Amino acid sequence: MDYEVVIGLEIHVELNTESKMFCGCSARVFGEEPNTFTCPVCLGFPGSLPVPNEKAVEYTAKIGLALNCNVAGYTKFDRKNYFYPDMPKDYQISQYDLPICYGGYVNVEMEGLAPEGSDPRGYVRRVGITRVHLEEDTGKLTHIGESGRIGGADYSLVDFNRAGVPLVEVVTEPDIRTPDEAKAFAQKLKNIIEHLGVSDCDMEEGSLRCDANVSLRPKGAKELGTKSEVKNMNSFRAIQRALAYEIERHGEVLEGGERIVQETRHWDAAKNVTMSLRSKEEAHDYRYFPEPDLVPMELSKDWIADLRKTLPELPDARKKRFMEIYKLSAYDAELLTSSKAMGDYFEECIKSYSDAKKINNLMMGELSMHLNAANLKIEESAVTPKHLVQLLKLIDDGQISGKMAKDVFKEMFETGKLPKIIVEEKGLVQISNEEEIEKIVDMVLEENQKAVEEYKSGKGRAFGFLVGQVMRLTKDSANPRLVNKILRKKLP
Ligand code: ADP
Ligand code: MG
Ligand code: ZN
Repeated sequence: MDYEVVIGLEIHVELNTESKMFCGCSARVFGEEPNTFTCPVCLGFPGSLPVPNEKAVEYTAKIGLALNCNVAGYTKFDRKNYFYPDMPKDYQISQYDLPICYGGYVNVEMEGLAPEGSDPRGYVRRVGITRVHLEEDTGKLTHIGESGRIGGADYSLVDFNRAGVPLVEVVTEPDIRTPDEAKAFAQKLKNIIEHLGVSDCDMEEGSLRCDANVSLRPKGAKELGTKSEVKNMNSFRAIQRALAYEIERHGEVLEGGERIVQETRHWDAAKNVTMSLRSKEEAHDYRYFPEPDLVPMELSKDWIADLRKTLPELPDARKKRFMEIYKLSAYDAELLTSSKAMGDYFEECIKSYSDAKKINNLMMGELSMHLNAANLKIEESAVTPKHLVQLLKLIDDGQISGKMAKDVFKEMFETGKLPKIIVEEKGLVQISNEEEIEKIVDMVLEENQKAVEEYKSGKGRAFGFLVGQVMRLTKDSANPRLVNKILRKKLP
């Protein structure tokens, strides 16, 4: 049977407000000493009362606007009741039927990542946004022990620093059709939120977390199949791989004539598999009800309109501007605006160097290659825009060859030294003096009479050999363009 894949994502984003959601504790708690950023409110002591963080409401509405959502005029908080050791109270303050934002969409470019002209099947996937709501984060458990089994630790430690940090949940419609689309959507969402500046969006630090729901249904069927939900994916690659694993597993179960059990599963990145955490039967009944300690909020049309005016340029607009102003192709502009840091890096370069194409080529070539190999982000690069532009100018001025530039780049990347310093230290000077090159060419011609004869008798390969000899004698420092020119002149 032919199946259609159906995927919906739930993405949690920790906001980077100064203080927590319902108390005055600092919300900047990552990496801090456990249980040092707490108070009676975020520890859920009896009698303590929550006070909502206005900035967090504003940030949530901003995210909604950037995702083309409606912002509700009337919204409220609800209690989601469940007990788990990372939860100070036996409920989480969240939103149920009246979220701050609802009914939006994100367009995900699926052609942008394929080399230009190579794949005509490029398309845009429009992913509906069901809702964007605001809640409080839980504490953090660390399981200690030898046992490999989930939940099989000897004991667990709890840190309540994170409890009460403002957390936004973005829920998509089941509009996603492939693991690649899921990955591209999550990246785009991160990119948009980075541009808004309302979250660090760091998957490794847990400020962006993704759950993926997936099911299969016979092609053409209207009804959705039974889904499984995968948690604990802390990279974009993990989202893609966990979904690919689940799709295959669903396919095998269905082909075997059996049913999918609705359940929550855990992605084990080391073993490359998902494992069952709990099935629907064990699922919680959250008994949502309106939070009695907080009043509903009214967001006026004027407040929303003013907020809309504060939205910065978002990735789609930035891409369009890069294409228009810098005459970059859609492919190049898509990559250059695929993260905020990447776009910022490019714009910093273009301030002091006008050839956008050359900047792009060096960023996508040498810079990306070194960053990937070292597993670093562009914002961690020792090669800053200043380094990159200085290198481009050295090449333009003929001071170093393209080949030397590669060596200089490697050295810059490893040491952070500016290219001019490296060139100086290594005595890397390209010989661009025609007379000097002519002398060497004459020597080479005299020494390699055989190759000269071969060339004269029509063997083109001999020319390359002679160029190679000149480069060898000059330790690759002769300007290759001049070597070619002079050799052509000397050889009839
Ligand atoms: P739950 O109550 O289990 O959290 P929701 O209806 O709230 O389920 O949906 C959560 C996410 O799962 C949403 O992103 C939604 O699009 C997606 N989803 C719902 N049903 C399915 C399905 N049958 N297959 C794939 N995704 C689904
Ligand atoms: Mg869910
Ligand atoms: Zn507190």
